Amino acid sequence: SVTSDRRSTFLGTGIYRFEGSNTVFIDPVRVLNRSYTRFRVSPSAYYSRFFQSKSPTGDSRVPNNSRKRKRKEKKTHTLNLREQAADERHQKVKALLLEAHGSFLGARDLLALMETLSGGDEFSGKEWLQNVEQSFVEHGSVWQAPLYEITLNYNQDDKPTHDGGSPCVNYSEQRVLPVFSNLVVNEAGSDVEAELLNNKYIIPKESGFFMSDLGQIHNLIPAVSDCGFNLIVIDPPWENSSAYQKMKYPTLPNRYLLSLPLKQFVHAKGALVALWVTNREKLRVFVEKELFPAWGVKYEATLYWLKVKADGSLISELDLFHHRPYECLLIGYCDGDIAYSKCLSRLRPVLHDQVFISVPGDYSRKPPVGELLWEYAPGPKPPRCLELFAREMIAGWTSWGNEPLRFQDSRYFLRG
Ligand code: SAH
Repeated sequence: SVTSDRRSTFLGTGIYRFEGSNTVFIDPVRVLNRSYTRFRVSPSAYYSRFFQSKSPTGDSRVPNNSRKRKRKEKKTHTLNLREQAADERHQKVKALLLEAHGSFLGARDLLALMETLSGGDEFSGKEWLQNVEQSFVEHGSVWQAPLYEITLNYNQDDKPTHDGGSPCVNYSEQRVLPVFSNLVVNEAGSDVEAELLNNKYIIPKESGFFMSDLGQIHNLIPAVSDCGFNLIVIDPPWENSSAYQKMKYPTLPNRYLLSLPLKQFVHAKGALVALWVTNREKLRVFVEKELFPAWGVKYEATLYWLKVKADGSLISELDLFHHRPYECLLIGYCDGDIAYSKCLSRLRPVLHDQVFISVPGDYSRKPPVGELLWEYAPGPKPPRCLELFAREMIAGWTSWGNEPLRFQDSRYFLRG
């Protein structure tokens, strides 16, 4: 039947499409697992925020009721002009989000699977604490940074065992490469274990990373200039007032983003650019009026990520002003040398108003939606994909940021 088809597609891919709607449910763990052969992403580590009563650090990040009440009280104050504009935006999208949530709640086969998302693997906070997480940002900023090396330990099985005629890359068992400001690629069809500063990292098949500060991103250009990218996902460290966020990673003033050499990464046939933004009105205006024009990106559509808990309910009330249960992904096109934009505008109605639903991972970790955008990217298929300000790696993608190995730490993985 159609339902069981949808269910088995979901179990295999992590993607569930609702009939007659622009809504998609995503299980990031299943999506990410398609990048791995010997390892798999630990569901309980990924979902530690919503399936665990306590997170490993013991802090509860879900706002409690008293804080919610405070926020609501605030809303009774009259809104200033900017807040009014933000509210207007919100009112426009509300119906769409409620409808999407409705389709989700109506999919009983899917809801029945929700509790199984966490995988049931015992999340061991003890093991978690045993190895200290590296601060790549710190290591990358010292004078010794160019000396740090990563060792890729290829498995024997990755080597071609027979000569079937196809010229395979001949892997030596170990490769040692500079880890900072260097494009490190695993071309193999299987994941590899890597060692760096006494920690282990799992590198997905057919993926690469370039770890540097924004100040060195120009060094990535020559390394990839032969082809350029057709799909570019960007999640900048926007400045905001949340102290918690500031503690998690350094933020970047908007003017630095204006100078990001985006155009230099764009494929000759153009690229689809997807930019995560917060719900702050000031930021939306900055992107539309300054950032996209500076990058040469033409705005096309807005997509929404609606966040739900394991029980299917929204993570916060839809109308909570400073704590919306959704985030926006702005979509635009950037021309390459060949102007393609004319034929692209017809894609707009298809792309517009899509809603992705998922249970959030660790704080501000975005669901891997890149693949859902493949079909809209100009140029060759599968598109060449780049993620900027990445904290994880995915098969088929190049990840750039000052900590692209962050979620590749072996603590986030299970064997086999
Ligand atoms: N999309 C990611 C989240 C990105 S958060 C996810 O889903 O996990 C923003 C990232 O930008 C953080 O990793 C932060 O360390 C990094 N960052 C902050 N300032 C930077 C700079 N100057 N250069 C490079 N990366 C930076």
